[in-house]
Amino acid sequence: MKQSVNPNMRKHHDLLSGLVRLHVLHHAAQGEIYGQWMIDELSEHGYRLSPGTLYPMLHTLEKKGYLVSRKEKDGRVSRRLYRATEKGKEGLELAKKQLREFTKEAMKGGV
Ligand SMILES: [Zn+2]
Repeated sequence: MKQSVNPNMRKHHDLLSGLVRLHVLHHAAQGEIYGQWMIDELSEHGYRLSPGTLYPMLHTLEKKGYLVSRKEKDGRVSRRLYRATEKGKEGLELAKKQLREFTKEAMKGGV
């Protein structure tokens, strides 16, 4: 189900960026992703990220060892494909466990 973009999303980017990184890792753990695909995917979940925000995020995740990338040439267009490393998958599992714990507490009473 497509979630509409909350107008406050940009205002609270710093707060939400951890969730965006986890969302990226989640997909990169399942297969190769590339920037524009990820931007479209995130928009399905109510996030609106510009390439100027997402690409530096991907670079940082790669620099920190959570993602690896390779360049793919498709005709004259080349794009960078990312996938999660073992460290990335490990971090994702840990974060999911903590997220479950947090959700259990924060959503008590139901939302
Ligand atoms: Zn997704």
